[in-house]
Amino acid sequence: MIDELTLEEKASLVLGADIWHTAGVERLGIPRLTLSDGPHGLRRQPEGGDHVGIGGSLPATCFPTAAALGSSWDVGLIEAVGAAIGREARDQGVDVVLGPGINIKRSPLCGRNFEYFSEDPLLSGVLGAAMIEGVQSQGVGTSLKHYAANNQETDRLRVSADVDDRTLREIYLAGFEHIVTRARPWTVMCSYNRVNGVHASQNHRLLTEVLREQWGFDGLVMSDWGAVHDRVAALAAGLDLEMPPNLGVSDAAVVAAVREDRLDEAVLDTTVARLLQLVARRRAGGGAAGEDAQTITADYDANHRLARAAAAESAVLLKNEGGILPLALEAGQTVAVIGEFAERPRYQGAGSSQVNPTRVDTLVDGLRTGVPQGVEVAYAQGYALDEVVEDEDLVGDAVALAGHADVVVVVLGLPDSAESEGFDRSHLSLPANQIALLPRLAEVTERIVVVLQNGSAVQLSTWADSAPAILEAWLSGQAGGGAIADLLLGAAVPSGKLTETLPLRLEDNPSYLAFPGEAGHVRYGEGVFVGYRGFDARSQSVDYPFGHGLSYTTFDYGDLKVAVSGSAAAGDLAVTVTCTVTNTGAVAGKEIVQAYRAAPIAAVSRPVRELKGFAKVSLEPGASETVTVRL
Ligand code: BGC
Repeated sequence: MIDELTLEEKASLVLGADIWHTAGVERLGIPRLTLSDGPHGLRRQPEGGDHVGIGGSLPATCFPTAAALGSSWDVGLIEAVGAAIGREARDQGVDVVLGPGINIKRSPLCGRNFEYFSEDPLLSGVLGAAMIEGVQSQGVGTSLKHYAANNQETDRLRVSADVDDRTLREIYLAGFEHIVTRARPWTVMCSYNRVNGVHASQNHRLLTEVLREQWGFDGLVMSDWGAVHDRVAALAAGLDLEMPPNLGVSDAAVVAAVREDRLDEAVLDTTVARLLQLVARRRAGGGAAGEDAQTITADYDANHRLARAAAAESAVLLKNEGGILPLALEAGQTVAVIGEFAERPRYQGAGSSQVNPTRVDTLVDGLRTGVPQGVEVAYAQGYALDEVVEDEDLVGDAVALAGHADVVVVVLGLPDSAESEGFDRSHLSLPANQIALLPRLAEVTERIVVVLQNGSAVQLSTWADSAPAILEAWLSGQAGGGAIADLLLGAAVPSGKLTETLPLRLEDNPSYLAFPGEAGHVRYGEGVFVGYRGFDARSQSVDYPFGHGLSYTTFDYGDLKVAVSGSAAAGDLAVTVTCTVTNTGAVAGKEIVQAYRAAPIAAVSRPVRELKGFAKVSLEPGASETVTVRL
């Protein structure tokens, strides 16, 4: 087919047709494919549209964000969520879903951390692969993003991530490598930033040498929206599709470069072939490819239920002193629910990932439906979400309610204005009016449970003394309210664990002195010592460590065995770690077994321990299971 295309047609095919479509060639039956965000639900804009989440989009299921889903450490669950997004894509005529994002949480301040899974590359890679396998199982593509070293929003279109090669490989590329080699995403999206001075969109080393030659990527590379600076240089570097199109400029530049022998036409042909292959993959996936064709009908009610189950798996029970959770309620008792989030939940982040949800559950409704008969659920706003200064009337009402309640659930978190795509935070604090409320409530009751709704780490150490229990719900999607109620009431048992370290203070984070950089450069000075690798190496105290998360039951570990087979020389070296996990408590629960590796003798400085495998097991009370992790 390439031989039948004119040079102008070829140049047109490597640009989008508009903001959400690839170009087609009608006379040859090449359809336009539809692309749509995003990582935790679709943002399908039927008309025109924008790429920053301002314009309206079709209703779709808003699943928990990656910060939440990641905390489930549940590969099967994430694959199921991916499959549900894939089905909605087929339903809405979307051919390629623009996600997942797997960038490393180098700093807790990054405004897009809610869209990313972890500070750990193995976890990011394994969970991202599960999402991709799920979406692509439905015959639509994904776009693994943002490749690479895109770990902040400050100066994001220009900043150069200056990072040494070992750190790049071990921390920032490892997740991409895992996914590209195992899950085979149909497309990869390059990032906006520069890497060691070279724009990601024009980075031959990243786009061609590493991605294709070393990892064997055989799909299409598209630009992040507006990431291309020099179309001809980008093409030569290995960037296939420019999005959105710079129509009339980029195509003319490509044609001129070929005519003037500045660009080998074979490079353009290869790129066109990748676009045609993407169309072929989509066709092989079933139904008519492209042209916004709806090829199946999705079950949005079932997906809402899946979103609820996923949100319950994703919450992390940080503390639970005196076993205050799950709430043991009897007829005649009152639960006070305090905090505006309980009625106006924050369940997703702002920017290109923003989904128009099919519906939204609130915690107040979830509790009212779930409590035993005769239990009253009373609500007080407590603070105003769009304020940072205390409102004495709201505080007074909340304190009065708390004073006569049997237990108080306080919902705190970050408002939209505090974190978003497009900017980074400058501190880890909750809004002052929220923090100030807690000691006031603690004056009248000791029975306080805090539920958190935030997309990235917040500082707890300044207020946690007032709360015997803290449940970190993250931004848990449209069904989060019901899921949190399930967890508080014991209808679901917490099983999430932290995928990022919660520090005592921002200043303790290993990237603190080199984030977000200056004068167009950010130097990744902490090297491989990112997240827990850096906290461990400096024996730095943390509030809650990576991998932490409680349950309503307890687990015992025994019979740890490590077996080595094969050899490095033969390329089949494998380490099999087994242990027996027993549920020693009274309720069924799930445990995440984590395997870390250390290299006590090494020629280079190495982290104290690194996550190398994990498994999530579900156990009835008293039951045991032998868990196997292969390294
Ligand atoms: C974001 C991408 C997104 C694209 C399209 C960009 O601003 O960085 O993650 O997929 O817009 O909306």
